[in-house]
Amino acid sequence: MQQSLTDTTKAQGFPQRLRAVLFDMDGVLYNSMPSHAKAWHRAMAHFGYDLPEQEAYMHEGRTGASTINIVSRRQRGVEESEERIQEIYRVKSQFFNEYPPAEPMPGALELLRKLQAQGLKILIVTGSGQASLLDRLNHHFPGVFCRELMVTAFDVKRGKPDPEPYLMGLQKGGLRAEECVVVENAPLGVRAAKAAGIFTIAVNTGPLPDNALTDEGADLLLPSMQALCDSWEELSARFGA
Ligand code: CA
Repeated sequence: MQQSLTDTTKAQGFPQRLRAVLFDMDGVLYNSMPSHAKAWHRAMAHFGYDLPEQEAYMHEGRTGASTINIVSRRQRGVEESEERIQEIYRVKSQFFNEYPPAEPMPGALELLRKLQAQGLKILIVTGSGQASLLDRLNHHFPGVFCRELMVTAFDVKRGKPDPEPYLMGLQKGGLRAEECVVVENAPLGVRAAKAAGIFTIAVNTGPLPDNALTDEGADLLLPSMQALCDSWEELSARFGA
């Protein structure tokens, strides 16, 4: 159930001089999570593991190795070897690439253009490590993103739910937490952003119940990126942007 913007407003929690918005990528800017969840399920089954698609959404944001080892410990009581982890992850990526390329999330580009018009900095903080990430972003969201304001799998040691990726985003942007908001779709992403001390808007673009996001401390919950885009003027006024 969507909470109204007014109900969830805690004036002291809202950034008062917003300078930047930090976006997660999968499930926020791209509708890529259904394919990721299917690929995880198939790849793990290929190696004798049971990882239901729904559970894959709960692990979203973790590094691949971390996800694999959670399932491995549960099923076999031990972690996988580094070599096998790489093999499993390779198969997962192969399955993922068999699916059609993910489409941009409806409402995402429109929202990004609004932020640009306000002169806000726009950052990406993703656990993804695709080499062609920036090319793809530039294709779908021309002129929005630059390498200097991106945090990817290549930049961090500890993935979400550790705050490291978001803290690095703040550092790259020369920003303080209270000048920013994060847009996230995954429970562990919300946890990471909140641990970094940043106001976090959750968009529930997947199959999980809303409380999976609010239990992690999301400050605001919206049902889609389009809903966030449509609410942006109202929110923006509260953010002092
Ligand atoms: Ca995500």
